[in-house]
Amino acid sequence: MTALRDDFRLYIDGAFVTGGASFESLDPASGQPWAVMPAATAADVNRAVEAAHRAFEVPEWTNLTATQRGKLLSRLGDLVAAHAGELAELETRDTGKIIRETRAQIGYVAEYYRYFGGLADKVEGSHLPVDKPDMEAWLRREPIGVVAAIVPWNSQLFLSAVKLGPALAAGCTVVLKASEEGPAPLLAFARLVHEAGFPPGVVNIITGFGEECGRTLTAHHLVSRVAFTGGPATARHVVRNTAENLAYTTLELGGKSPVLVFADADLESAANAVVAGIFAASGQSCVAGSRLFVEESVRGKLLAILTDKAERIRIGDPQDPATEMGPLATLRQLAHIEQVVAASLAAGAELVTGGQRAEGHGSGHYYAPTILACAGNEVPCAAEELFGPVLSVIGFADEADALAKANDSPFGLAAGVFTRDLARAHRLIRTLRAGIVWVNTYRAVSPIVPFGGYGLSGLGREGGAESIRDYTRTKSVWLRT
Ligand code: NAD
Repeated sequence: MTALRDDFRLYIDGAFVTGGASFESLDPASGQPWAVMPAATAADVNRAVEAAHRAFEVPEWTNLTATQRGKLLSRLGDLVAAHAGELAELETRDTGKIIRETRAQIGYVAEYYRYFGGLADKVEGSHLPVDKPDMEAWLRREPIGVVAAIVPWNSQLFLSAVKLGPALAAGCTVVLKASEEGPAPLLAFARLVHEAGFPPGVVNIITGFGEECGRTLTAHHLVSRVAFTGGPATARHVVRNTAENLAYTTLELGGKSPVLVFADADLESAANAVVAGIFAASGQSCVAGSRLFVEESVRGKLLAILTDKAERIRIGDPQDPATEMGPLATLRQLAHIEQVVAASLAAGAELVTGGQRAEGHGSGHYYAPTILACAGNEVPCAAEELFGPVLSVIGFADEADALAKANDSPFGLAAGVFTRDLARAHRLIRTLRAGIVWVNTYRAVSPIVPFGGYGLSGLGREGGAESIRDYTRTKSVWLRT
């Protein structure tokens, strides 16, 4: 047996340190441990937050102009681009996400840091024309303080870029907690933060378990801002934790996103988008288009195209660039999907394809691309966020029926519409309850365009120029002249 890699460290106050605890990280492709990771205890978290609090007041950080902060962020973006291969390989190793996807996403990560670098000196205050001849009044925008950023295991580099980028551009300091499931890419990224030249304590990167590390961090009295991405159940814990410090909190949560395909759509192009929308990252994506609503008249035809495409997906070693779908990140996730698919079949869903572990991959966490035909949203696979490669297909009679079924969910992260009828597309853009609507495309992403959800999918938006405001607070100034 090969020795486990043990060179990962927490990054606290500008130094690489071992945590008070440790754990083994599994390679999802083999199901075997491959590295020993440090785990931050409450004492480690306290040191990281105190370091961020001190850094928020040191001249090495506070005296930097916004333009200088922006340059640091752009340099970080360049370093991410220069080390993209190594970061992608680590993310693939630790989470099972295929190398094609991790490479592509890390290209975006570099872009996000450069984008927020460019925004740093565009945060402006304002002059307020008060009705008092002897007074001047204006608003200053100031950094909000110490930020606790928490990310889940999928897309950790990307999900931290939309938090670290605006936080640092605004002049905040940050403690970023990587997920305990697959922390390798973020712990490696810490070396790039160090190399970029941020003063010690401005960025701290830790990992550890939710109950000790996550709770201590989000409840800490020196934290003023919490930026959380994860599941709704954890979000409720986070909100309870912030009852302690009353930190300004944004939540990016799960989804059960609908994709609506009308009979007039280009079915081949819609099918490609549906397949990518649900099977990319093995379905472990917050915006996975997991509920497909299709107009009855083309249901059979679309299902046949989708089945053919799903059955051709090349499943295999996530490090192989030819692989199109890899394993699930954890065994727990695999067991959960098996259980929900079984419950859905028992509730009357019809198996179109898949519905079992993908064979021939040893103890790796592989599940076959699965399509289930369902009568409605009540079937468990159509109701719950599975975070796996399972598409629930439901027919609709007309536009009103499609809209009612699509909106029948407590989630509201994203929605897709495939139609050639522009007027219908506009009506659905107005009425779909979702934070993102993609028309005749799915999963398009850019640093310029915000994302975030309605309902149980979250609170607040990430990305885009306005997101930087969530890392500032205003100070109203009155001056007698
Ligand atoms: P999770 O909620 O289990 O964990 C997320 C993070 O919260 C982890 O770092 C975890 O350690 C931490 N945590 C756990 N308990 C905590 C506590 N009591 N206090 C503070 N922190 C705690 O989520 P997961 O299973 O890792 O990720 C999957 C979920 O994330 C899915 O629901 C998915 O939809 C969601 N997600 C949302 C987006 C988005 O942008 N909307 C993006 C990606 C993933």
